[in-house]
Amino acid sequence: MSDASARRLRELGDVPVDKLRHIGEKRAAALESMGISNVFDLLTVYPRRYIDRTRQVDLSDLSVGDEAAIFAEVTKVSSRRTRQGKVMVEVTVSDGGESIKIVFFNQGWRERQLLVGVQALFFGKVGDYRGQRQMANPVVDVIVGATGEERDPSRVGRVVAIYPASGKAGLTSWEMGGFIEESLRRAGRLLDPLSETQRAPLALIDRTSAYWGIHLPENFGDQVPARRRLAFDEFLRLQLILALRRRRLEESAAGIRHSIDVHDLDVAPGSLVSREDTLVRRFLGGHRFTLTTAQRRVLDDVVRDMVGPLPMHRLLQGDVGSGKTLVAVTAMLGSLDGSRQSVLMAPTEVLAEQHLASLRRDLSGLMVSDDAVLGGEREVSVQLLTGRVRTKERQAIVGGLARGSVDIVVGTHALLSDDVRFRSLGLIVIDEQHRFGVEQRSRLRDQGRERSNEGADPDLLVMTATPIPRTAAMVLFGDLDVSVLDELPAGRRAIETTWAREDDEIVSCWQRVRDEVAAGRRAYVICPLVEGSDKIEATSAVDERTRLATHELRGLAVGLLHGQMKSDEKELVMNQFRAGEIAVLVATVVIEVGVDVPEASVIVIEDAWRFGLAQLHQLRGRVGRSEFQSYCYLLGTPPNEDGEARLNALVATNDGFELADVDLEMRGEGTLLGARQQGRSDLKLAKLKSDEDLLLGAQTLAASMVESDDESLAAMEDELRLFVDEDDATYLFKS
Ligand code: ADP
Ligand code: MG
Repeated sequence: MSDASARRLRELGDVPVDKLRHIGEKRAAALESMGISNVFDLLTVYPRRYIDRTRQVDLSDLSVGDEAAIFAEVTKVSSRRTRQGKVMVEVTVSDGGESIKIVFFNQGWRERQLLVGVQALFFGKVGDYRGQRQMANPVVDVIVGATGEERDPSRVGRVVAIYPASGKAGLTSWEMGGFIEESLRRAGRLLDPLSETQRAPLALIDRTSAYWGIHLPENFGDQVPARRRLAFDEFLRLQLILALRRRRLEESAAGIRHSIDVHDLDVAPGSLVSREDTLVRRFLGGHRFTLTTAQRRVLDDVVRDMVGPLPMHRLLQGDVGSGKTLVAVTAMLGSLDGSRQSVLMAPTEVLAEQHLASLRRDLSGLMVSDDAVLGGEREVSVQLLTGRVRTKERQAIVGGLARGSVDIVVGTHALLSDDVRFRSLGLIVIDEQHRFGVEQRSRLRDQGRERSNEGADPDLLVMTATPIPRTAAMVLFGDLDVSVLDELPAGRRAIETTWAREDDEIVSCWQRVRDEVAAGRRAYVICPLVEGSDKIEATSAVDERTRLATHELRGLAVGLLHGQMKSDEKELVMNQFRAGEIAVLVATVVIEVGVDVPEASVIVIEDAWRFGLAQLHQLRGRVGRSEFQSYCYLLGTPPNEDGEARLNALVATNDGFELADVDLEMRGEGTLLGARQQGRSDLKLAKLKSDEDLLLGAQTLAASMVESDDESLAAMEDELRLFVDEDDATYLFKS
């Protein structure tokens, strides 16, 4: 391992592509446009597939109906227009023996791509045209261009790697392969940061063999262990960054030791409590419901973190309706028992206002001692700070936070603006913010510390209702400890979900809305998502409300809520809906997250296929929040199979974690990981679902490497510099 001649990946990252033999200015520019600037980048352009030339189909063996990949050379190209006026390009290809005709419709550019002499792989179904075998519109991978390329015979091995050809940049798979092969040869032996002892239990091959195996497999199948090793490295780098970040946090942490008694959590409603008891005891003793077993268990985690010396850094995952708010409130009171303030951040003003209202309701009558007031006692003070709180009121609240006369502040994340200071901030709760990245979380913690005159790190509890498969959570939230609320409060009934396609099903959907309203319940109608235009979306919601109020739902009190309304209008409408003055709320997705109106028992989602699976599950979660039987109706005809699959999945299960798995499978990791998937840190080979064992192995290894801090960590840190920016590197790595 400490072989001085072996190359580090970072050294390869220092070699610009134009140092390679056949790369001049033009090709370097083409590569640059694909995001490839150095030799390391080149090595991480992975083949899309492989052709096993020992098992190649001869054209003479092909029959009509076969689906096949054929490797052949273009011998003739022409184009003409069909009678319908479509462009048709006709290409004849030969494998040295027989030939076959391939036709392309509406792809005029194929005439310029598939010049005589081009060798390519054509993948498609063999059809029959007037008794002749023919392929129509196959998938094409150009492997050898017609001109100007050296055809190094040594590259035509038994297995040929096919690279994603870039039509735009004008580089063929063959050229890419050539650059990569030269890179590999010149790189020679690569330093493997992992020792034999580290690799063996995970069945990982060494790094040099892995890069050769994936790009130039000698035998078909060699690419499999190669991929495994390289995928592992991708996970390892991600997990190491998280583990290092964690170490830094812990080293620099100045946690608060809250004084909360875990046994207080066992106080059940109706228990005898006195004025001298802690807030937590008085709150739980006076509450409407008993904690669910899951809430009790999660609070145990939370309280243990809070009383411990390190700042809490915890994610609470709980399906919609599992009762995360109660967990948060209890924790905030625990903080207040030590005279420390709390912040509750919501993603929208509507949600912030809802939290304010429910906190004030739940905490009313709960007294805290305060020497500054007459009688030495006052009610717990919960205040709102959002963009629309007027200046004067805002000044009063900001003043109260600094003095300590405000205990809990609720708001959107604009809440921590510069003028906001706390007397003593103990806890920050972020609700429904799974889009918050690792970096944002650490910034938030710094802000908390700066704003509290104790100079200590407030505890952090992040809550999300979007269930995330465990593997994805490890990548997205690997810097957090995780607790899961995996139980709904007792008495909940499964929401009945119907995909209403036929006219009579749609009629019964609206009838259901009328019936439920007649029984004193309430309904949501979600209007179609209009991509990219809030205005048009709002207009269509306005129209839909008018239509429903005059047709299907005539005679009912139908209200409207959309994103273009002013905040106070929104608040008014939500209050009317809560109070039952509005029975049916026609809304855009503004209600997607967190809105809690227990009497709502029906939700109708129009053009449901336009929404993502997680979003649909969130929307559905607006009902079924009480003991009433609830219903969800999905309307609309999906234009594609994906849409159908989403609706079917939703009908099939109410379980958010199951849906999250389906979602991951359908969409792949890219969209799920969102902002994390940037630049070089992409998971190019690793798959969260099928490579779960690798991810777990990487997590364990990363933790032990950081712990033992030996030369393999030093080697990995060097390589991580390829993936993190300068600032991060300074922060994460020991100098
Ligand atoms: P979410 O986890 O989606 O944020 P909420 O905290 O809004 O869920 O809770 C959903 C509903 O369940 C609320 O109406 C809340 O009052 C109720 N609830 C929470 N905890 C319990 C419990 N232990 N028993 C009964 N109902 C509960
Ligand atoms: Mg919630």
